Amino acid sequence: MSISENWSQVRTRVAAAAAAAGRPVDSVRIVAVSKTFPASSAQAAYDAGARVLGENRVQEALPKIEALPGDAEWHLIGHLQTNKARLAIGRFSLIHSVDSVRLANELQRQAERQELVQPILLQVDVAGEDTKSGFAPAELTAAARDIARLERLHLEGLMTIGPPVDDPEDARWVFRRLRELRDGLRQDLPDAAWLELSMGMTHDFEAAIQEGATLVRVGRAIFGERTAGAGAAPPLAAHR
Ligand SMILES: *Cc1c(COP(=O)(O)O)cnc(C)c1O
Repeated sequence: MSISENWSQVRTRVAAAAAAAGRPVDSVRIVAVSKTFPASSAQAAYDAGARVLGENRVQEALPKIEALPGDAEWHLIGHLQTNKARLAIGRFSLIHSVDSVRLANELQRQAERQELVQPILLQVDVAGEDTKSGFAPAELTAAARDIARLERLHLEGLMTIGPPVDDPEDARWVFRRLRELRDGLRQDLPDAAWLELSMGMTHDFEAAIQEGATLVRVGRAIFGERTAGAGAAPPLAAHR
């Protein structure tokens, strides 16, 4: 199937999941994750109607950002090393993967230098897997309080990666927990917007939408399987 056919199928599935959850269709945005694929694939998704694209590495993203029309919105979804913060600032309309106060401080410093405000999400390791980056739920509130003081960062919500399970229903508690954590932060830190919940990928986005996802990050269902080893992705082989 072509990227354009895949894109329409994913849109249809997202719309059905939103409807089943009693949510308006436009409350869920699809981030088309083009990592490991060339700019021409990202362009094909754009031509099919995708306007939000996701990449997990800054250096891989930059040439694609240059290649695509200016109204494409780019999101950084992968772990960002502190020494790459300078390259990421201002290039991505949303950084999903802020996973330490140290990184946030560096993003603040770089945003100040470039006189920009950078929208971000905090990544949470809900399931407590050693392999994943992100704040532990227990440390989230304190970290969010520190980060909320950084006036060059705009806190828009939370992001998580579901656990590698065969049945997406087994990931649902993680998505529900992320929503509950977000609701708690809304009470504790009402000055930030906390609108976005970035959760759900190819194998589990329907469950995530049921639990309130506003951004689903979908790669393989749009672009096809990635070649082995590529993309520094979360462990995916387990749930083919
Ligand atoms: C690769 C990646 C995705 C997309 O995964 P698919 O299984 O291809 O949909 C989503 N989120 C993150 C953080 C990723 O690295």
